Amino acid sequence: MSFRHYSGRLIALATQHGKQRVLARPLRHGLGLTLRHAVEVNTDRFGSFSGEQARPDDAPTTCRRKAEAALEALGLDLGIASEGSFGPHPVVPFLAIGQEWLTLVDRRDGFVISEPMLCSQTNFSSCTGADPETCASWLRQVGFPSHAVMVRPHAGEGSEPAPWLAKGVRGSAELAAWMAMAVDRSPLGLAWLETDMRAHCNPTRMATIRRLAFRLVRRVGATCPACDAPGWGLVATRAGLPCRACGLATELVQLEEFGCVACSHRELLPRRDRLMAADPAHCPYCNP
Ligand SMILES: [Zn+2]
Ligand SMILES: [Zn+2]
Repeated sequence: MSFRHYSGRLIALATQHGKQRVLARPLRHGLGLTLRHAVEVNTDRFGSFSGEQARPDDAPTTCRRKAEAALEALGLDLGIASEGSFGPHPVVPFLAIGQEWLTLVDRRDGFVISEPMLCSQTNFSSCTGADPETCASWLRQVGFPSHAVMVRPHAGEGSEPAPWLAKGVRGSAELAAWMAMAVDRSPLGLAWLETDMRAHCNPTRMATIRRLAFRLVRRVGATCPACDAPGWGLVATRAGLPCRACGLATELVQLEEFGCVACSHRELLPRRDRLMAADPAHCPYCNP
């Protein structure tokens, strides 16, 4: 059991968005780790959702660098960080999709263990309007006021986006005031609203990070069958699940590739949900 690698150790977390609230318990109960909040690390320097600070790296790299900054700040050999990325769905119009990463860096043993999670349940979205009434249905849909929004003037299509006037907006009166100011400053006379994706402003996202924490804990507890290192888990998938009607390969996952963080051992396994054939709806021949 890899539990021995972690029980009793301290783990550093860099967050300005309250993620310690959902990470401390899974780490303590699942791995015997005690979370230490690296308050001095400014996570905004790794890039922000609201776009003031561009992300220099892709999200998984940013996540690992945040974990490293946290452990260095506290002089520990273990660190953890969370990172999310949100955008329009690549296939379905008007639908958003999110991806979350949780990464544990173990400097003592040289392991980097990362668990990704795709989230179709994100409320990531934007809306334009002159006042809260014209955006009422959008506001309901994104979960306002339990989920906060950000406000800026609508600069117009093809123009450089205006800076945010307000973030973390949760009150109706506050929203109306910021929207009035945005309308005043917009060449189109419109305010641009967008969901605030920072974890402390977005209970849906916070709940996702909590679920992901339990998955990371399970992954850390899984050991490589070849070398016994922790962090054994899914590293890639292979498409090609055959259609149930005609047997042609579909784009759906057929095999899951498991890998080790320490050695080159890999295993190709059937899907964990035991699905052996695809619905013809996914078949390029039966449903072109
Ligand atoms: Zn078919
Ligand atoms: Zn191994």
